[in-house]
Amino acid sequence: MIYLKTDEEIELMRAANRLVGATLAEAAKQIQPGVTTLQLDKVAEEFILDHKAIPLFKGYNGFPNALCISINDHVVHGIPGTYRLKEGDVVSVDCGVKLNGYCGDSAYTFEVGEIAPDVKKLLQTTKEALYVGISNAVEGKRIGDIAHSIQVYCESRGYSVVRELVGHGIGKEMHEAPEVPNYGKKGQGPLLKNGMCIAIEPMINLGTKNVRFEKDGWTVRTRDGKPSAHFEHTVAIRPGKADILSTFELIDQVLLN
Ligand code: MG
Ligand code: MG
Repeated sequence: MIYLKTDEEIELMRAANRLVGATLAEAAKQIQPGVTTLQLDKVAEEFILDHKAIPLFKGYNGFPNALCISINDHVVHGIPGTYRLKEGDVVSVDCGVKLNGYCGDSAYTFEVGEIAPDVKKLLQTTKEALYVGISNAVEGKRIGDIAHSIQVYCESRGYSVVRELVGHGIGKEMHEAPEVPNYGKKGQGPLLKNGMCIAIEPMINLGTKNVRFEKDGWTVRTRDGKPSAHFEHTVAIRPGKADILSTFELIDQVLLN
């Protein structure tokens, strides 16, 4: 069952997603060598609670924290802890909140100091692939059009697309139908209709596409140990052009300073 949202609901989704963007920006302010991933999580959780929202990830199937923080060869779902960021790391921060009954979900992969040029290119390409996917997230197209465009964009540049994890519908629940893969065939999958809200989230590897799941039950990492990147926006399907409900604007402001 795919729930189409009313205009009023989409505005509530936008508010939740703007709070996610603001929370990621708060985390971004702290990112530097020596900081633990748990410190980032604490800053984010307090910020979310201060804004009368619920950190969505905390308690989700027993996940212990407000943020998923995934370093270097961690693809997604890393658990914040005592690890201290160091120069050259890449750190994917994924955040979800519920505000006034509606969910927001967005992720950004940050650079810690100077990173290797090939990894920098991976991050750039993954972010670009997100917007390529979003350009196909319009009424009348299909989920496969989004998926295919992301896959072609990344694979033609020598990167690989993780298969085990996908984007998703989002609304009153963080994970709703349909699934939104980052690989697939044009013209296939559910039809995109006005008012559908989906999270598009390419997870792209520098090496091969294969991943393994850690014994902690959460962390997903690349099998070859090479870095992975993850960028995510929540968008509403509209005629002609998607409405991007989450935002990287506040993150960009922090990174420019
Ligand atoms: Mg997310
Ligand atoms: Mg998501």
